[in-house]
Amino acid sequence: MSDLPPDVHRELREQLGVFALGHGDAADRAAIQAHLDGCADCRAVLADLVPLHARLADVDPDRLDETPAPPPGLRDAVLTRIAAEQQRQPVRLADRRRSGLVVAGAAAAAAAAFGLGWLVRPVPEPVPLEAVAVETRGPDVEATAGLVPHTWGMEVKLTGEGFTAGEVYRVTVTDEDGDVVPAGEFLGVGPAQLNCNLNSSVLREDAVGFAVLDAEGELVLSSAF
Ligand SMILES: [Zn+2]
Repeated sequence: MSDLPPDVHRELREQLGVFALGHGDAADRAAIQAHLDGCADCRAVLADLVPLHARLADVDPDRLDETPAPPPGLRDAVLTRIAAEQQRQPVRLADRRRSGLVVAGAAAAAAAAFGLGWLVRPVPEPVPLEAVAVETRGPDVEATAGLVPHTWGMEVKLTGEGFTAGEVYRVTVTDEDGDVVPAGEFLGVGPAQLNCNLNSSVLREDAVGFAVLDAEGELVLSSAF
């Protein structure tokens, strides 16, 4: 920067826009040019203005008064969204003068609440599945099983394959008194994997085992626990 006081540069730079556009009277332009010839800093400022000047030169002056139009359909889309929000949030939108702001606020709050709600959502307790050993009879059937205790009884989750397709299998639960209680039936699906939940009225603490019998009443598999 030259030795001139800072105000001189500042005042000159305020005129650089006009200068860059080629405007201003000859005396002013000569004074500015004289300053620029001796001031690299102000020349740099002018250099920054030149690209802007080039862009401004492309502007059609006849269109400067035109207000840029939003894309067609935007207004209807916004109004539709607001109407939908008003139906969901009728109380909060009682003050119609502020409805636009409230809609935006409500949408943001809903989004924030959703995010927060998701973070603090109650995570369900994992189902307490108690794996139990299964003994199969015959080479065809493979199975595993787990127990789920309920207030109303006990659920047997049976996974297996090799149950003859279309054959009805009967499941029983045996309680500690030796009573055999029905726990439902299922249809075999052949080699495909079968996932079956069977419900028994025997409480877990009273149950000592379950069994699966085929249509002839033959024991197919059993579990003692
Ligand atoms: Zn200067």
